[in-house]
Amino acid sequence: MLIRVHRVFVFLAVAALLAGSSFAQQADPSRYITDVKALASPEMEGRGDGTKGLTRAEHLIEKRYKDLHLEPGGANGYAQPFTLITGARLNNDNRFSLETGDRKQVLKIEQDFVPFSFSSSAHGGGPLVFAGYGVTADEFQYDDYAGLDVKNKVVVVLRYEPTGFAQKSGNHGMTQHSQLITKAINARNHGARVLIVINGKLGDGEEDLLTRFGSVSGPENVGVVMLQVKNAVADAWFQSAGKTLKKVQDQINSNSKPASFEFPEALHALLNIDIETTRATVNNVLAWLPGQTDDYVIIGAHYDHLGRGNFDSLAPSQIGQIHPGADDNASGTAGVLELARLLAPERGKLKRSILFMNFAGEELGLLGSAEWVKEPTRPLAHAVAMINMDMIGRIRDDKVYIGGVGTGSTFKSVLEQAQKDAPFKIEYSAGGYSSSDHTSFVTKKIPVLFFFSGLHSDYHKPSDTWDKINSSSAARLLDMIESVATQLADTDQPPTFQVVAEEKPSGGGGGGGYGPYFGSIPDFGQVENGVKFSDVKPNSPAAKAGLKPGDILIQFGDKPIKNLYDFTDALRRSKVGDVVEVKVLRDGQPVTASVKLEQRK
Ligand SMILES: [Zn+2]
Repeated sequence: MLIRVHRVFVFLAVAALLAGSSFAQQADPSRYITDVKALASPEMEGRGDGTKGLTRAEHLIEKRYKDLHLEPGGANGYAQPFTLITGARLNNDNRFSLETGDRKQVLKIEQDFVPFSFSSSAHGGGPLVFAGYGVTADEFQYDDYAGLDVKNKVVVVLRYEPTGFAQKSGNHGMTQHSQLITKAINARNHGARVLIVINGKLGDGEEDLLTRFGSVSGPENVGVVMLQVKNAVADAWFQSAGKTLKKVQDQINSNSKPASFEFPEALHALLNIDIETTRATVNNVLAWLPGQTDDYVIIGAHYDHLGRGNFDSLAPSQIGQIHPGADDNASGTAGVLELARLLAPERGKLKRSILFMNFAGEELGLLGSAEWVKEPTRPLAHAVAMINMDMIGRIRDDKVYIGGVGTGSTFKSVLEQAQKDAPFKIEYSAGGYSSSDHTSFVTKKIPVLFFFSGLHSDYHKPSDTWDKINSSSAARLLDMIESVATQLADTDQPPTFQVVAEEKPSGGGGGGGYGPYFGSIPDFGQVENGVKFSDVKPNSPAAKAGLKPGDILIQFGDKPIKNLYDFTDALRRSKVGDVVEVKVLRDGQPVTASVKLEQRK
């Protein structure tokens, strides 16, 4: 008996040892998928910023950290609260009517007209002017505003652009001039008070639909009142001028020449547009695993998604349905939780600490990570690297993408080591700038690694569901990431930050692309009135002109800059070699500089 008991004891002890040394360190696909399923469940309502669903997800994450006995890493316990703009809402009193002599036509909201969410609010009116497609395109010697006085007037324009532009630009598809924001900025810069867009000519089987309020993204306030009216409403105005909408549009397209005109003086618009910006306070969730020093490695992922769909939904007809965001980014969030479980037993053993981060506000512009680097809850100087996971749940054929490899001096050898037992075919890229949260850390010169399993047709749609997640491959990837994190936390030689030369942005045809090279890196947080530079590239035109990180750009040539849309538009309208007078605010004081724009390399 005794011997037998002894044998069993030995067997159990060996099994326990084995479990302790290797099995327990592996990520568990079934735990992982359980977390993905919970985060993507209907109860979480798609984790939209400012919704109860996001708060439920936040509580799930926080509870897990507590259960693992990780220390709070936020500003307020595990939480780091911050306020963001979630969108806009139409208030009750939105009115639009037309007067011709003693006749008054009252239009119905969302039936005859609808404002855009980025429109200014205003009360007033004015005479009407037709300005073609609302386009000023120097590169095509085409200007709908040429010889037209639109100051304080109501400007009526067609959506899209003259049919010849796409061909002239050498691009497939339409140029930047077709964008609603471009039209809005152009109208505002010409002094218009109101911009009215009409659909004009419709495609085969296409209905004359009004754009759903809030379904087009833009700045908080584009600086001009902007709305859409139905073709039938506008056609009556054309008839009062002895024309028809169809004939005028056909004429512009066949001649490639503007056909702008003033509507009869008797026609007068009266409107009241009342739009309210909606804001919410959301929380990043942070937990701290102490090591032997205060230096630390960051493991992060965003946990917010699109809720019931917003302007970023890629299934606009399904806005209103829950967008569960299983891959984007329940997959990365569950990854952080699984790594926290695997690493929690290492408390006090690793040379460096680990800071687990779950960001809110990513889908609205990397706002959670931008907030953290602006108000870091641990000293930035002690961060040795940031690992970001955004969409790691749809690994196909063992293909994995890893970005930021060039930003840390030791990343290549760390990844080589981590990859030894991993089954993946990996595509590496050097740069650390892309459309997820690690970008906020690159701007602070922290080395970053970004893990990603690729785009798919369910991206940003209600069909991004948990059952499509490849949990066994994701678990193997987490094993690899665990190796990366442990090496970075325990090595004698932490990586030093390296600048990676920017890859050439795509585009560049007429009106498209990014325009000439300026060399500033915008802050990804929401800044009111201007564009804040989080960094200025060495030797760039901006640097040569003496511009500095922290400067807020408010004027570019003769154009006011209120936001990134204005800056992008102004830059696109400039040419290589132009010398532009810019005005920035530095510590609240205006400073002017002359920037000579260069060719992008
Ligand atoms: Zn997303």
